[in-house]
Amino acid sequence: MTRVAILGGGPGGYEAALVAAQLGAEVTLVDRDGVGGSAVLTDCVPSKTLIATAEVVSDAAESAELGVELGHDSVGVDLRRVNQRVLELAKAQSADTTATVEKAGVQILRGTGRLAPGDRVIVDDGAHEFVADVALLATGARPRILPEAEPDGERILTWEQVYDLDELPEHLVVVGSGVTGAEFASAYNALGSDVTLVSSRDRVLPGEDADAAYVLEEVFARRGLNVLSRSRAASVRREGAGVTVSLTDGRTVRGSHCLMAVGSVPNIEGLGLSECGVALDDRGFIKVDRVSRTSARGVYAAGDVTGVNMLASVAAMQGRTAMWHSLGDAVSPLNLKTVAANVFTDPEIATVGWSQAAVDAGDIDAVAVKLPLTTNARAKMLGIRDGFVKLFCRPGTGIIVGGVVVAPRASELIHPISLAVEASLTVDQMARAFTVYPSLSGSVAEAARQLHRRD
Ligand SMILES: Cc1cc2nc3c(=O)[nH]c(=O)nc-3n(C[C@H](O)[C@H](O)[C@H](O)COP(=O)(O)OP(=O)(O)OC[C@H]3O[C@@H](n4cnc5c(N)ncnc54)[C@H](O)[C@@H]3O)c2cc1C
Repeated sequence: MTRVAILGGGPGGYEAALVAAQLGAEVTLVDRDGVGGSAVLTDCVPSKTLIATAEVVSDAAESAELGVELGHDSVGVDLRRVNQRVLELAKAQSADTTATVEKAGVQILRGTGRLAPGDRVIVDDGAHEFVADVALLATGARPRILPEAEPDGERILTWEQVYDLDELPEHLVVVGSGVTGAEFASAYNALGSDVTLVSSRDRVLPGEDADAAYVLEEVFARRGLNVLSRSRAASVRREGAGVTVSLTDGRTVRGSHCLMAVGSVPNIEGLGLSECGVALDDRGFIKVDRVSRTSARGVYAAGDVTGVNMLASVAAMQGRTAMWHSLGDAVSPLNLKTVAANVFTDPEIATVGWSQAAVDAGDIDAVAVKLPLTTNARAKMLGIRDGFVKLFCRPGTGIIVGGVVVAPRASELIHPISLAVEASLTVDQMARAFTVYPSLSGSVAEAARQLHRRD
């Protein structure tokens, strides 16, 4: 029996553990904080649970247009109850995942693990020690802390600490306009806080489709969410009952609370990497190839600690791939061009495949069509004012190579495009499939129809 050791119980680790157990290995999963990892305990699951409440609030707040009378002047939230639900749901999800992993026959050790020469794994400084034929490092990442903006857990917060708040921040300053910053800014704005988003770049979501980011900026502006673009935070200080964010150009922003969302750093400390010959890349993440191998024989790595694409779904696929490869099952290298991703703002932004930026840069020859949702009958019925469907296909063959959806629940609407990209379907194949009338997915089929070319 191959002995597999997995350090880290997030999606990279636990999904790998399930595959390894399925393939007949003897699997030990070592985790410090709880199975499910940051994804379940502090990051994806809590933030999306909070956002679920925010969605209900903004739907209610905008329901007058649909003839709804709520009977109150405004819709409010009890943040203590919201956060209690968030934390309970995260705990329950971790317990469910633990049960699934245990049922598969995986041994779970609670503790901090590291590698040691001689294929050894040491847990909690020697409380446990064992030998493994294959090791997977899936220790994740943590919020990046700026020395001039040290979180205090009360007013200056990381995204892991926001669930300790009992009351809605009166004025939340969010530093960082990447995915995490934009999601929290959107959510707290909907929940009823004044929000200022400090963005060092020209626009929010600099890594996303520019048309999508533009829609989001318009929505933010309409809802009174203040975006300070080209503004870099130099320091954040607690002052009295609030915080002062000082910008590098000398301006200051006052708020009641500040959320720091300035990226993540990999959990690599104390893992025994250099002793065991595991190399890092120039950003300080563990270097892996497309089947998750590190530079050390028998040692694999998956998830945020590799910095490949910091998503739970990618972590899980890297972890599974590592096990398929090490245990001799059929395996194909990770293909980042088929990853579907979503920004859970309101509206959501979902993407898959080649991007507009890559098309514009000439990295791929593709044609695009963009359909606003405003002409879609279902969107009108639902009172949806913002959003679009964009599809990219190869000019000669019509093979779909990517797409963007900006809409409520874009995370669900992207799936047919994702399927098309994975299976190299053509726009004509996509257009021939029935969609329900009326439906938002009708716009996906319509975009495909518009890309039809007659030879
Ligand atoms: C606010 C936020 C929201 C997000 N939302 C989404 C989303 O909606 N969808 C999505 O796909 N992605 C989302 N992500 C990204 C996602 O959370 C990560 O990509 C994912 O958690 C990575 O999984 P992982 O297995 O690499 O590590 P993690 O989930 O970070 O798990 C790593 C585990 O390893 C443990 N560990 C660390 N060191 C050791 C050690 N030495 N020994 C033992 N255990 C150790 C940690 O305690 C942790 O339990 C979000 C990220 C953030 C910050």
